[in-house]
Amino acid sequence: MKNIKCYSKNALTFHKNIVNDSLNKGEDKDNLLKNESDITKAYADYKDKFNKNNLFTISAHGFDGEDKANLLKLYSSQRKSIIQLKIELTTNELKQRINTCPNCTIEKVASLDHYIPKDEFPEFSVNPINLVPCCSTCNSKKKENWKDDKQLLFLNLYSDIIPLSQYLFVNVISKTEFTFELKNVSKIDSNLFKVIGSHYGKLNLLQRFREDSDEVISELDLLISNGRDSFNNDTKLEKFINNHYSTVEKRDGVNNWKVVLVKAMLNSKIYF
Ligand SMILES: [Zn+2]
Repeated sequence: MKNIKCYSKNALTFHKNIVNDSLNKGEDKDNLLKNESDITKAYADYKDKFNKNNLFTISAHGFDGEDKANLLKLYSSQRKSIIQLKIELTTNELKQRINTCPNCTIEKVASLDHYIPKDEFPEFSVNPINLVPCCSTCNSKKKENWKDDKQLLFLNLYSDIIPLSQYLFVNVISKTEFTFELKNVSKIDSNLFKVIGSHYGKLNLLQRFREDSDEVISELDLLISNGRDSFNNDTKLEKFINNHYSTVEKRDGVNNWKVVLVKAMLNSKIYF
C-alpha cells in the first residue's frame, strides 16, 4: 500500500469541460450553468480541505431534484473524458500502466471510485481528485460509506500520508499456516492508524491477502528450488533472494502484502 499520484491539472476545468462537451439539450445545460458559482465554491472548498488533509469536515451543498440528477449524469464510465482520466491515473511517470487497484493491491482496476460518494455530494461527481482507480471488489465493499461520526473509514491514497514504516506483518507458523496482522510498532499517528485499521477491515484485506497467498508462496518455492540448482550454495542463494525482494520492496512499498509475506517466510527459517 502506498500513495498514488493525484490529478495534477485544474479540477474545475475538468468539470466545466464535461459540462460544455456533453450537454446538447439547452435545458440541462442551463440548469448546470445556473449552479456554476456554487460548484466553483464547492471545488475550492474540496481542494482546500484535501490539501490540509481535512476532508472529514467537508459539508455537502445539498443539491437535490433536477440539480442533483443533472450533476450525477455527468459521470459515466463510458464517457470519453472519464476513460481518458482512468488511463491517466493508472499510468506512472515512466509511462507504464499500473493497473492494480491501489486500495487492495490485489485485483485489477475496474472503474473509478468516488472517494466522497456522489450520491451525497453530487457536486463532485466528476471532480478528478475525488476519483480513485478501484477494483470491483473494493468498490462493492466501499459502497456509499466514507466516514462515521468520528473518522474517515478509508485511506485516501492521494492525500493521506501512507507510512513508510512497516505496519503490516505476517505471523508464520508454517508454509500453510500463517495470518496477516496490523501492528503499530513504529508509533504511527494513532488517528491515521485507526483509519488504516478501518480501511483494511472494511475491505476485508487481511483475509483477501491470505486467500491470494498460495501463488506467492509457490513462486517463492520455485525461485528457491531453481536457485539451489544454480547456486549450489545456500548462503549465496539466501543473499540473492533477499536482494531480489529488497528491490521489489523499494518498488512496491514496505507494506505491500506480497513483500511482507515473502520477508516473513524468509525470516521464519522455513527455507534457510
Ligand atoms: Zn481493490
